[in-house]
Amino acid sequence: MPHYTAPLRDMRFVLHELHNSADLAQLPGFEDMTADLIDPVLEEAGKFASEVLQPLNQRGDEEGCRYEDGQVYTPQGFKQAYDQFAEGGWTGISCDPAHGGQGMPVSVHMMIEEMISSANLAFGLYPGLSHGAYKAINAHATPALRDTFLPRMADGSWGGTMCLTEPHCGTDLGLIRSKAVAQPDGSYRVTGTKIFISSGEHDLTENNIHLVLARIEGAPKGIKGISLFVVPKFLVNEDGSLGERNTVTCGSIEHKMGIKASATCVMNFDDAKGWLIGVENKGMRAMFTMMNAARQGVAIQGLGVAEAAYQGAVSYARERLQGRALSGPRHPDKPADPLMVHPDVRRLLLTMRANIEGARALGAWVSKALDIADKSPDPAVRQDADDLVALMTPVLKSCFTDMGLACANMGMQVFGGHGYIREHGMEQLVRDARITLIYEGTNGVQALDLVGRKLPAHGGRLLRQFFHPVSRFIEDHAEDPQLGVFAKQLGKAFGHLQQATIHIMKLGMARPEEGGAASTDYLRLFSLVALGYMWARMAQVSIPCVGTEQDAGGFYRAKVGTARFYFERLLPETGARRSAILAGGSSILSFDDNWF
Ligand SMILES: Cc1cc2nc3c(=O)[nH]c(=O)nc-3n(C[C@H](O)[C@H](O)[C@H](O)COP(=O)(O)OP(=O)(O)OC[C@H]3O[C@@H](n4cnc5c(N)ncnc54)[C@H](O)[C@@H]3O)c2cc1C
Repeated sequence: MPHYTAPLRDMRFVLHELHNSADLAQLPGFEDMTADLIDPVLEEAGKFASEVLQPLNQRGDEEGCRYEDGQVYTPQGFKQAYDQFAEGGWTGISCDPAHGGQGMPVSVHMMIEEMISSANLAFGLYPGLSHGAYKAINAHATPALRDTFLPRMADGSWGGTMCLTEPHCGTDLGLIRSKAVAQPDGSYRVTGTKIFISSGEHDLTENNIHLVLARIEGAPKGIKGISLFVVPKFLVNEDGSLGERNTVTCGSIEHKMGIKASATCVMNFDDAKGWLIGVENKGMRAMFTMMNAARQGVAIQGLGVAEAAYQGAVSYARERLQGRALSGPRHPDKPADPLMVHPDVRRLLLTMRANIEGARALGAWVSKALDIADKSPDPAVRQDADDLVALMTPVLKSCFTDMGLACANMGMQVFGGHGYIREHGMEQLVRDARITLIYEGTNGVQALDLVGRKLPAHGGRLLRQFFHPVSRFIEDHAEDPQLGVFAKQLGKAFGHLQQATIHIMKLGMARPEEGGAASTDYLRLFSLVALGYMWARMAQVSIPCVGTEQDAGGFYRAKVGTARFYFERLLPETGARRSAILAGGSSILSFDDNWF
C-alpha cells in the first residue's frame, strides 16, 4: 500500500527561509500570518492528507464514480472525507473572512493543495474547482450575488464548477454556442450542452454553483461575444435556503484513463436560470480570474503527484534487494544490495527530487507574488507582482505538469514490473497525472500564451520581473567562492534564454508561425532557467547552514547536493533547447501536410 507523508520540513524551508514569510505578515490582513500560525496549519493539513485522503485514493480509483438517473455518486468514503474536510475549515482556507473563510495567504493554500494532490488528486478536484469559482464570483459579481453564494461556497456546503468546453469547442472558446436570453427581472435563461465538466454533478455538497460561458442573443461572433453566468443547481430563496431545482442536469459521466473518482460530466442547460457575472460580452476577462487561479492549481497538482511518486520510489529503492553495487557488495550480509546503490536508480531519484524541490520553491515564489498583488497597499508593487504572476502562470502550468507525469513515470521505473501492476499505486499516479497536461489549456497552448501574449505584453514589461532578479543574482554572486560555481552555470543558461528570447521576439513578430514552432522549446528553456534560479537561491540559503547544529539531519547538505546535481546534470539541457529554437521553424513549417 502506498503511503504519503507531507514534506513539512521542505515546505517550511521554502516558505520561511527561502521566501521570507515574515514579508507576508507586513501585508494588510495578514498581520497574524507568522510561522507560529502557519506551521501548525500545515501540520494539520499534512495529517488530514495522509490519514484521511490518501487511504481513499486507491479505492476511489478502483470504484470510480457512478451515474444513475441523473445522479452521480462518488466512491465510498468520499462523502465522509469531504464533510470532515469542510468541517475542518479547509474549503475556506484562503477565502475572505467576510464570507467565513480563514483568510490565509495563497502561499499557504498552495502548500495545502500540494498535499491534497499528493494524497488524492481526484478528491482535490472537488474543492479545487469550487475555490476557482469562488474567486471569479468574488472578483466580478455584484454584492448581492456574492452574498448569496460565497459564504456557502467558503464553508464547503455548496460546490462550484467551471463550464467552458462544448462538444465542438475546446481550446477555441470563440466557437461557444451556448446561449443566454435576458429576462425582464434581470436574470438570464441559459441553454446549451457542456462536456467534460469536472464536479458537474456529485453527492458531496447540497448545491452546485456552475460558472457558465454563453453567448447573449445578438452578441458579436467569436471570443468578443462571450459572457459569464452563474447558474446554481438549486435556486436560492430570499432567506438563503434552497429553492426549486434549476433546469440544469447531468446527462452522463465520462469513463476515463485516470482521476476516476473525479466526476467528469456532460451538463445540459435547458433554459436554466442564471445571472450575469461582470460585464456583457466580457466573460473571458472574468473567466481568466478563475483560469489563472485554476492553472496555478493544476501546476500544483503536477507537483503533488511528483512528490507522491518520489516518496514511493525512495522507500522502494531502500527496501528492494536486487543485484550488487558495481564497486562490490555494500551489504554482504544480505542476499543482494538495495536498488539505491545503482547509479541509474540514484539518477532517477535525484532527477525527481531536483525537479520537485525546485518546483516547490518556484511555485511558492509565484504564490507570494499573488499575495502581494492582492494585498500590497502600493499600486506599483502590486503591478510588479501581478506582472510576475501573469508571466509565470503558463510556465508553472506546463513545467510542473510535464514534471508530474515524468516523475510518475520515473517512479514507476524505479519499481520495475512492480510499478506497472496496480498494487503499489505507481501506475495510478501515471494515469492520474496525464490529464494535468491537457485540462486548463493544454501545455502546447500554455507555450503559445507565453510566447504570443506574455512576452510581447506592454513592450516586454512582464519579462523584467524575471530577467532582472536573475541577472542581478548572477552579477552579485559570480565571484563568490562557494556560490560562484552555481552563479556561473546559471549565467550560461540565462544567456541561452536571452538569445532565444531575442530570436523569438524578432522572428515571431514578423512571422507568428515561427513563434508557434519555437514555443514549447522556449517554455522548457524558460522553466529550466527558472528552476535553476531557485536552486541557486536555495544553495545560497543552505551553504551557510551546512555543518551547523541545524544541519544535524543533513537537510542543508542534501539541499546543496541536490543543487549540484541540478546544475551539473539537468540545467545543461538549456543548450539543446536554444539550438532547437535558433534552428528556426522551417523543418516543421515546410513539411507538406500530405506527407504526414
Ligand atoms: C478529465 C477532464 C476534466 C475536464 N474538466 C473540465 C472542466 O471542468 N471544465 C471545462 O470547461 N473543461 C474541462 N475539460 C476540458 C479540457 O479543458 C479540454 O479538453 C482542453 O481544454 C482541450 O480541449 P479539447 O479536448 O477540445 O482539445 P482541442 O482544443 O481539440 O485540441 C486538440 C490538440 O490540438 C492543440 N491545439 C488546439 N488548438 C490549438 C491552437 N490554436 N494552437 C496550437 N495547438 C492547438 C491542443 O494543444 C491539443 O493538443 C476537462 C477535460 C477532461 C478530459
